[in-house]
Amino acid sequence: MLDLLVKGGKVVDGTGGKAFDADVAVQGNRIVDVGRLSLAEAATTIDATGKTVIPGLIDIHSHNDLYAVRDDYAQLFEPYLRQGITTCVAGNCGWSVAPWPQQSSDLMRATVRSMGIPKDFKLEWSTQAEFHDWMRRRGMPMNFVPLAAHGWIRMAVMGEEARFSTPEELTGMKKLLADCMEAGCRGMSTGLTYFPGMYAHTDEIVELAKVCSEHGGRYASHVRGHSQTYDTAVKEAIEIATRSGCGLQLSHVFAVPYLGETRANIIYALQGVLETINRVVPLPGVPNPVLKKAIKEVDTALEGGLDVGMDFIPYVLGNTTVTQLYPPWANIGGTDALLKRLRDPDTRKKIRFDVENLKPVWPHWEEGSWSDNYVKALGWKILSILSVGSEKNRQVEGRRVVDLARAAGKDPFDYLADLTIEEEGMVTFLFGLPPRPWTEKVFTSIQHHPQLSVGADTLFPEFGAPPQSGYGCFVRIIDHYVKELGFYALEDAVRRCTGLSASRYGLDDRGVVASGKAADLVVFDLDTIRDNSTYDDPVHFPDGLEYVIVNGKVVVDNGAYKPDALAGQLLTM
Ligand SMILES: [Zn+2]
Ligand SMILES: [Zn+2]
Repeated sequence: MLDLLVKGGKVVDGTGGKAFDADVAVQGNRIVDVGRLSLAEAATTIDATGKTVIPGLIDIHSHNDLYAVRDDYAQLFEPYLRQGITTCVAGNCGWSVAPWPQQSSDLMRATVRSMGIPKDFKLEWSTQAEFHDWMRRRGMPMNFVPLAAHGWIRMAVMGEEARFSTPEELTGMKKLLADCMEAGCRGMSTGLTYFPGMYAHTDEIVELAKVCSEHGGRYASHVRGHSQTYDTAVKEAIEIATRSGCGLQLSHVFAVPYLGETRANIIYALQGVLETINRVVPLPGVPNPVLKKAIKEVDTALEGGLDVGMDFIPYVLGNTTVTQLYPPWANIGGTDALLKRLRDPDTRKKIRFDVENLKPVWPHWEEGSWSDNYVKALGWKILSILSVGSEKNRQVEGRRVVDLARAAGKDPFDYLADLTIEEEGMVTFLFGLPPRPWTEKVFTSIQHHPQLSVGADTLFPEFGAPPQSGYGCFVRIIDHYVKELGFYALEDAVRRCTGLSASRYGLDDRGVVASGKAADLVVFDLDTIRDNSTYDDPVHFPDGLEYVIVNGKVVVDNGAYKPDALAGQLLTM
């Protein structure tokens, strides 16, 4: 007798191939048959008549390893499971919680704090291997794919040093990276606009990517600039992949268009009008030549035989830590050092000058340069607070910085700087516009790219709710991009969220519904599936997503989440 039978559904198998009617049989943690199995008997049968059956969704770009350290992690990830995510790739953007050597511990605690990690979380490991053992002992609600994080390895070896590495330090980093890879990491990530990754010379990353490649891993990069220098930054990532022989994954592909405050404010004010006109006469999107140039670089590299994948967050919004709103030099030494600088009136004046004036130059490791000055590129109006650490400021969450500043009788810079100090750096923010058809055109030049997967890149604040992507990212792909816009065929959309992502990290037995593959499955109703998480009111689970199966175990049962199932595995190499 079978353990589980998903009966009567339409299977979209994750390969991009046409949907077909089939039953799916599961024994233990494997799919053992896909086809007409009307005579089969099973301990549990799910009636999927009229429903769609797809592989478990893979969030190719997550930071869930950071949040897995929280005591409430099983409940915390409910929004992920409820949107059908059964696997997440963790350790992205150069951030991680391993390795964590004693000598760098204070610096690391101060650094993760800005991502919403409680400062007193209990640390029970030092190496990547020990972290993996700890994860396995505790159990995971979904599968985790670990990546080694360059920023963490650099901090472990060089502490808070903000300069190029010496040959001895590079040797130390290579050794640590090799340990991470031997512990089963499937790649290495960089975050080259964050401290300390941004101080790494291209050559340092090439040498490390060689170690990654020797162990069969891929190089995932949050590149060295997400605004005006994006094309050059993508070129650098391609150079690193070419010189090291390492396959490349370009993380959260986007480039903030450089509008300047005045133009940004006009667009902000006219948003509603522009969306209305666009409904009648399709308007061109905000021109973004650097994004086009970057994709051209990718296509040339692909034609030359380089292994390149990309992923995108399906919102015209991003979320990150408040430290990113201050120039790189202000972040040298980590979050505590930043706070000290913001408290000193003269240094604060210099920071303000840079925020108001610095335009991106390449490369940004030169003194006085900055690749991603979002305020200068897009103006203050696009910024709102996602989360803060303290209870007393809870009411600022979800509100725009300009409104909060006005109410406090301050200008936006002073308001934000004071809030950063008060919250000891524990502030995350959202930047961008509410997702609407016209503003979304910013992506249309890339969304059909065959190598493009979907990632949610969700931050889970210590208090309060994660952003929209945490609740609805993948449901939005089906609800909005497939059903509403007709932008993707269902089969293509599912491939970008499953099979394609699995192939990027060598997950040969995931991402596809076929006999012999891992039993990660999602059953949903195509007619009723609905992303209920909105920009203004994100905390709503989707409709129509009925069953989620992780390694053969039903973890969302007719819409109800089972936090105790802990059916995930650590998918090491
Ligand atoms: Zn990133
Ligand atoms: Zn990220």
